[in-house]
Amino acid sequence: MSLMEELKNLYRVDGQVRALRSRVDSAQRYLDAQSRELGALTDRKAELEQRRRQLQATIANYEVETKAIDERLEKLRGELNSAENNKQYTTVLSELNTAKEQRSLVEDQILAEMEQLESVGADLETLDGQIVERSKVRDVASTQLQQRQADVGERLSELEVERDAAAAAIPPSELATFDELTHIHDGEAMAVVEEISRRNREYNCGACQMQIPFEQVSLLMNDTGALICCASCHRILIMAEETRGALAKK
Ligand SMILES: [Zn+2]
Repeated sequence: MSLMEELKNLYRVDGQVRALRSRVDSAQRYLDAQSRELGALTDRKAELEQRRRQLQATIANYEVETKAIDERLEKLRGELNSAENNKQYTTVLSELNTAKEQRSLVEDQILAEMEQLESVGADLETLDGQIVERSKVRDVASTQLQQRQADVGERLSELEVERDAAAAAIPPSELATFDELTHIHDGEAMAVVEEISRRNREYNCGACQMQIPFEQVSLLMNDTGALICCASCHRILIMAEETRGALAKK
């Protein structure tokens, strides 16, 4: 095989390897996305649980406060009953009313915190449902990935051996060029020469559409063994048999 034929062969096998790998890669990306979503939900749950603990602690503190006020109220009521004169009575009554107001304020606080606690509880319930659903999706994605790996695994190993053999047939510097272009153009290292006008000797790069000087087309026709690359996108140019045949007849 000529260098150009060896390269075409490598290009073909490399494309097959890439196509199979991309099937596994897309399943992997899907699984990663699901795992990230699940992670975000779990983080949110931890935050809400922390918030719930804070609210519960605040409420417990207010309840301690209420109990202290109640004890004070009880004491003041006793004092009120045993007041010995009007002045004493009025003083104790005023203290009693102040304590009652305090109690009412603390009760309002407790109610407000309770409302928040309820809302956090509802959010947590919703979140738990979402976590269950997302876990199911994640598990399906995980199974799918394993399935794909199993499906393509054997064929992929075969193709990788074939690709290595195809690459081994190509001189190191040309192979390096091919690999670099493969990397840059996401697998599209080669481009087919397109005939625009035979009469005007107009030819384009099939990938980037830039015009190719006719001298380069001639070099390709003669198959000198040197790589001819597009001046614009640098892809290795190849000629379809029909284009070559048509030009040869001329
Ligand atoms: Zn090009």
